[in-house]
Amino acid sequence: MKFNPAQAIQDLQQFGEFGGVNPSITDSSTYTFLEGETMEDTFHGKMEGCFLYSRHWNPSNKYLADALSAMENTGSAWVAASGMAAITCSLLQLCNSGDHIITSITTYGGTYAFLKNWLPKYNIEVSFVDITNIEQVKNAMRPNTKVIYTESVTNPLLQVSNIPVLSEIAHKANAKLLVDNTFSPLIISPAVLGADIVVYSMTKFINGKNDCVAGAICGSNEFVDQLSNVNNGTAMLLGPVLDPMRSSSILKNLNTLHIRMVQHSKNAKFLAENFEKMGLKVKYPGLKKHPQHKLHCELMNKKFGFGGILSLDFETETKANEIMQKMQNAGVGYLAVSLGYFKTLFSCSGHSTSSEVPLGIQKEMGLSEGLVRLSVGLDSNIENTFQRIISCL
Ligand SMILES: *Cc1c(COP(=O)(O)O)cnc(C)c1O
Repeated sequence: MKFNPAQAIQDLQQFGEFGGVNPSITDSSTYTFLEGETMEDTFHGKMEGCFLYSRHWNPSNKYLADALSAMENTGSAWVAASGMAAITCSLLQLCNSGDHIITSITTYGGTYAFLKNWLPKYNIEVSFVDITNIEQVKNAMRPNTKVIYTESVTNPLLQVSNIPVLSEIAHKANAKLLVDNTFSPLIISPAVLGADIVVYSMTKFINGKNDCVAGAICGSNEFVDQLSNVNNGTAMLLGPVLDPMRSSSILKNLNTLHIRMVQHSKNAKFLAENFEKMGLKVKYPGLKKHPQHKLHCELMNKKFGFGGILSLDFETETKANEIMQKMQNAGVGYLAVSLGYFKTLFSCSGHSTSSEVPLGIQKEMGLSEGLVRLSVGLDSNIENTFQRIISCL
């Protein structure tokens, strides 16, 4: 039977301290011990289930991490204060000075900036490739390559990564495949397909309420132990801990993710198909003419659809801005960055979430200056939304 990530979350039984149907929130930074020896053992990671200090582990964060590791089938997980914290802690845990990373050139702008501007300061080299070109990936491999980094569905160009093939290339060379699955939770299960580590910006679909910033790292027990090691773990030592109040509310939202993803996907597909019929330049992995449509079909957990993100190319920034302003006034949604919200959000990628990528490189990767990314909301009447959008064109 095929792995069902939503069922894996639902099957968890996590009770509150007094039998509550929701786990209790532990709003404590530190924990008491009855004996001094137990404290020392906990410090050295010998005491399973004991909590020491909330930058290390907090019970509320553990409940959320357990649910995420069930969803990804990774064995373990760690929650972080932002998606960027999840990405940077993972990469820094895996790489030392002198190592090499291969990354998709199209990634989230913050990730691109970290890989391009920050890591070279520590003598970690990064090669940027077209992740859909497997020959290019193979040719970029070096003896010191430690990580292949990609997004399941890339931001903002919506290329689909061939996770099984990339994982084979990485593993042959003793490297790890690290996948950002922010755009396609439940839809794609990267670890089941061969990825070693899956990272998330939970700010987006997983939480789905745009009321906080949060991230997650899903990986093996061994990797999560390394991250939280008191002597050399990046999560422990760089310290981007998630607030337990927040992790408690994200956990409740995670339990409705499967219903939301179905609705986001249904609405986005409706819009994409109708934009295509009108002859607009639309990109959506659910369209047959999308270059990796077949691959997406092979990789996906079918019942959750092709996701809530699509892009429309209006060619110039001026045109894009004019249309986005009209769409906001017509009640289509909000002109704002971010995604995975219950309302539709739209922004011009090249001048917002990908503005860290120099213009020349944006051109090279095929990011038009008039590209508008739409994160389609949970609209109950998408035909009506479609009419409102076309009245703005
Ligand atoms: C937003 C986003 C991030 C960064 O996450 P934050 O929670 O804002 O730190 C990383 N990757 C992708 C694909 C994103 O969309």
